[in-house]
Amino acid sequence: MVDFDMRIRAHAKVNLYLDIIGKRPDGYHEIETIFHSIGLHDDVYLRRRTDRQITVHCEHPYVPCDPRNLAYRAAKLLLDDIPDLSGVDIEIRKQIPVAAGLGGGSADAAAVLCGMNTLFSLGFTRTDLMRLGAQLGADVPFCILGGAALGRGIGEILTPLPPLEEAWILLANPGFEIPTAWAYQQINLSLTRPKKNVIILVRCLRNDDFVDIARHLYNGLEVPVLSKYPAINKIKTKLNKYPSSCGVLMSGSGATVFAFMQSEVQANLAAANFESDFDFCRATPMSSAGVCIF
Ligand code: ATP
Repeated sequence: MVDFDMRIRAHAKVNLYLDIIGKRPDGYHEIETIFHSIGLHDDVYLRRRTDRQITVHCEHPYVPCDPRNLAYRAAKLLLDDIPDLSGVDIEIRKQIPVAAGLGGGSADAAAVLCGMNTLFSLGFTRTDLMRLGAQLGADVPFCILGGAALGRGIGEILTPLPPLEEAWILLANPGFEIPTAWAYQQINLSLTRPKKNVIILVRCLRNDDFVDIARHLYNGLEVPVLSKYPAINKIKTKLNKYPSSCGVLMSGSGATVFAFMQSEVQANLAAANFESDFDFCRATPMSSAGVCIF
């Protein structure tokens, strides 16, 4: 988009902790999670229109440019709510791998809600936008909040936590998508689960101690996903063996695996080292923001 009105950085997230604790009558799973924004982001461009249309342009082959796009649905939510609001043209330049457990679609939706709020001076508070965002997806409120947060309910009940400063991770993705709904369906809630305690991780975050965090990472979806997709297990094994990695976990429902690295330099060295091994491999810092408007 050449003559855009606003550029927005839509940051991806990782889950440092994810435990599925129950299933609600509406079919959604109750979870306990710790989200953290990361530096990797999509660029979302907005241009105001003179009519009430919404258009989406995205070159990524697996991202729909129609009402199925979460960014489109975010704009539609605001247009449905505000009768005299103008439409927008949306362009999404994807950097976040799609259906990869990094919340890419949710990040784009968060960017459109926050961006349109500023572009059209709508006057919504961040809490208002997070409440609206929850109608689009469980991860959207966190993408609006950004930084680090404990998520309960279906992930939309958020308690902000201090984000990690100066920690770097390596992201590795094998290049296939894992449908989130499928991953959650594999969870057998009647089985006894290992007793994990999210409070330990919350304390580590409050102490800004990423080495201790790396020791307590947990994702309850790993067992079913890794048993069906051995390629992800292979990535975990490789990253676990790598000397400067200090904690490895699959993010969300996968297939992306992240590893905490001892430093920025080590993270970039690891990215260069694994470049040809994985479909997507990137060093990125943790981020204290979910959405940045320019
Ligand atoms: P989460 O971690 O929140 O479960 P994810 O990172 O695994 O999400 P997304 O990248 O959000 O998954 O993509 C999930 C599906 O949503 C894809 O199959 C894709 O076709 C669709 N989709 C709709 N809008 C977008 C968007 N703006 N960006 C990426 N995918 C989108």
